[in-house]
Amino acid sequence: MPELPEVETSVRGISPYLVGEEIAHITIRQRQLRWRVSDELDTLAGAKILTIFRRAKYLIIRTNRGDIVLHLGMSGSLGILNQAQNQPQNQPIGKHDHIDLQTTKGTILRYNDPRKFGAWLWFENAETSPLFAKLGPEPLSEAFNGEHLFKLSRHKTVAVKNFVMNNAVVVGVGNIYASESLFQAGIHPDLAAQNLTKKQCERLAGVIKSVLTQSIIQGGTTLKDFIQPDGKPGYFAQVLQVYGRKGEPCNACGTLIEAKIIGQRNSFYCPKCQKLPR
Ligand SMILES: [Zn+2]
Repeated sequence: MPELPEVETSVRGISPYLVGEEIAHITIRQRQLRWRVSDELDTLAGAKILTIFRRAKYLIIRTNRGDIVLHLGMSGSLGILNQAQNQPQNQPIGKHDHIDLQTTKGTILRYNDPRKFGAWLWFENAETSPLFAKLGPEPLSEAFNGEHLFKLSRHKTVAVKNFVMNNAVVVGVGNIYASESLFQAGIHPDLAAQNLTKKQCERLAGVIKSVLTQSIIQGGTTLKDFIQPDGKPGYFAQVLQVYGRKGEPCNACGTLIEAKIIGQRNSFYCPKCQKLPR
């Protein structure tokens, strides 16, 4: 599933090809994604793309008429096809290539989504839309810090892993990054949020920022892959300490990594580095 760093990488990857350009048309081959694709997208010929940015795991293409809001869902990806270089008329359209946004210069933003859980929606202003109303702060913003985590976690009996994956607490911390951050902070994923100390909250907020930043930096190295014959970006390989490593030795202490279902999601942790307090 694309997580925040992949969405951020997508924003940075597609922006140079699209910002400042005019939309020629948007071709929609499949309207049934997670939600029905907004009909307004059929009427955007002539709209100018002003900027492209990310909020949580949404990617917003802001035009002079309003906002196209994309979500990559479980399996969505974006690619750029450049007519001048790749002659898209000769590029076969794949089975899962559901949407093409074409500029007047012939550049195509192609959306591929095998599982169709993504979204292409239209809002006059994404930031005031109901989609964004209940979102917590961005993890890389100053508003997200130890104080914020400490304040919100009081009287919360939910496991800390679910707590940090809650979009109302902080956006964009998915299953992989929650597991990795808790390992680096030395906190057991099943610890009740209310039992976090102030110090642990500060540590956890700092680690979440550094883990995500590191992934975004790694993602940056794959930006050249945004122009590919198949239009798919090459997602970067994560260096994972615990996620998906059940039964393998911990890189810090050699103890075997364990896995446990917490809040219906598989959680990976080192039982020695991430002890529950007695
Ligand atoms: Zn360990």
